[in-house]
Amino acid sequence: MSASKQAAAGDAHNDTSPAAPGTLPVRDGEDPWTQQEAAEVRTELEEEIARLRDELRASEVDLAGLMRDYGGGAGDDSADTGGKVLEREQELTLTHNSQMLLAQCERALERLANGSYGRCENCDQPIGKLRLQAFPRATLCVTCKQKQERR
Ligand SMILES: [Zn+2]
Repeated sequence: MSASKQAAAGDAHNDTSPAAPGTLPVRDGEDPWTQQEAAEVRTELEEEIARLRDELRASEVDLAGLMRDYGGGAGDDSADTGGKVLEREQELTLTHNSQMLLAQCERALERLANGSYGRCENCDQPIGKLRLQAFPRATLCVTCKQKQERR
């Protein structure tokens, strides 16, 4: 392992070499991954993770505010209290969804780093390049995903 020279600033992606793109699985009839395509998926995952972390941080602040409002004695108006409860529930659901998405993105990025990216976690078949380009965080192939949703 030779430490590759750090390229120009802002080009930090190149200093850790990801799994060779050619080894990422594709479905029958798909072209192999190019370095460029693998880098794009990775960038997209990184951006999504950053976005979700921001979102979660923001909703933590919101939730803290909502909890305080709800707990406070100011709520004589029962309609208002009901609204607040609903708002808090919605916020909690959103937070939960974002946390799941974040975990999924992080796992996809991990798999990209260790070379297991692109294989269905359930049946070990290639997920397919087109599907991953549309949903970089996908860890299941379409078939398994549909089965999971039907459960
Ligand atoms: Zn599968």
